[in-house]
Amino acid sequence: MSLLYDLLDFNKEFIDNKEYKEYLTDKTPQKKLVLISCMDTRLTELSTKALGLKNGDIKHIQNAGAVISHSYGSTMRSILVAVYMLGAEEVMVMGHHDCGFGSLKPEPMIANMKARGIPDNTFDILEHSGIDIKNWLKGFDSVEESITESIEKIKSHPLMPADVPVHGTVISPDNGKVDLVHDGYQ
Ligand SMILES: [Zn+2]
Repeated sequence: MSLLYDLLDFNKEFIDNKEYKEYLTDKTPQKKLVLISCMDTRLTELSTKALGLKNGDIKHIQNAGAVISHSYGSTMRSILVAVYMLGAEEVMVMGHHDCGFGSLKPEPMIANMKARGIPDNTFDILEHSGIDIKNWLKGFDSVEESITESIEKIKSHPLMPADVPVHGTVISPDNGKVDLVHDGYQ
């Protein structure tokens, strides 16, 4: 395996050539937005480029499915940090069509875990600990519904200020077209 070393070799040249200079900015988002989008490989750059956003413009949180699963998980905490400490004034939840997480079924993933050596009784232990592993590893039927649920979780959070608009959008990974699902100003 050499990926790590290839990356580090590239980094050395990147630094030597001072290529970082074009990315220099500060930690306050110029556009005062925190964007939650999916970790899909097709969206690494497309999700921001399609909205005209560049380094320094936004706080960008990415996870599988652009989903807020837990009100006190790290994604929700990141949103609150962005709003209270880093100058974000608006929030956008951006889902996308053809989402790998959306179509995720727990059974094949659990089968893969077992094939990779996770013992059967681990799943029993988790279940007895009150962890609904199947529900945790389940995607969503409709990206629009998933976005709406995440928006509701953000807006109803007891620590979220009421004056922060929370928008919902869906992006196409094929051409970057962004459709509005929820206008947070309304
Ligand atoms: Zn996705």
